[in-house]
Amino acid sequence: VIRFEGVEKKFGDNTVLSGLSFDVAQGERVTLIGPSGSGKTTILRLVMTLEELTDGYIWIDGQPLTHDRRDGKRIRLREKEVAATRKKIGMVFQHFNLFPNMSVIDNVTEAPVHVLGRGKEEARERALSLLDQVGLKDRADEHPSRLSGGQKQRVAIARALAMDPKILLLDEVTSALDPELVGDVLGVLRDVADSTDISMLIVTHEMSFARDVSHKVMMFDGGQVLEQGPPDEILGNPSHERTRKFLDSIL
Ligand code: ATP
Repeated sequence: VIRFEGVEKKFGDNTVLSGLSFDVAQGERVTLIGPSGSGKTTILRLVMTLEELTDGYIWIDGQPLTHDRRDGKRIRLREKEVAATRKKIGMVFQHFNLFPNMSVIDNVTEAPVHVLGRGKEEARERALSLLDQVGLKDRADEHPSRLSGGQKQRVAIARALAMDPKILLLDEVTSALDPELVGDVLGVLRDVADSTDISMLIVTHEMSFARDVSHKVMMFDGGQVLEQGPPDEILGNPSHERTRKFLDSIL
């Protein structure tokens, strides 16, 4: 459902990703690990079209995301085409990024109503059911400022799910939380993983979570995949010294 083909990303002279190719299948959950600056967040931001790739292609569900190959040439798609594909992708950020001026429920119904064109009542019912799923139905009419970080993050998860994405991108979703709030958020994500067929790209330092929910772990270094495989293998018995050092440094 996600295909990276020869993806390159530069920021000025700084080449962050080069010739990166990989596939993620429908329902597959992949955790990206690697040292700070190895490009993990950049990969998620490219999929969310928050960054523009310098070269190569990203395919989502068989469709070109931002660039296509036509008559042997690489062309940039029009914004309308990009927007149609982007609807299939949801993202949860480290710092929640909720709309501060809207109630919890309005945060969750905003995009389904304005992007997908769903009816308000239908969107509201679905939002309440998702808020119930993340344990926050009784907070639906409050403003996000009254919620704890963990509760905000659970709203952000409900908001992403309200778009019925095929792909969910999770960028360090527990890093900004007090330790006692991490478990609730990871519990909600475990439920989502167990109960849906959504593909996930996960950037996290929570290795037990990565081991539990992911089918594959990819270790990045220097803009390339250093090694990849099942979590038990990569986290438990990596073949590269650099992976071993990285894992030692975060445990
Ligand atoms: P971390 O674990 O610290 O979040 P990461 O693996 O997610 O690291 P990225 O955030 O993807 O790494 O950053 C990769 C590189 O790209 C870094 O060298 C960073 O400085 C650079 N970079 C990221 N965003 C920008 C930007 N908007 N402008 C310039 N350079 C950037």
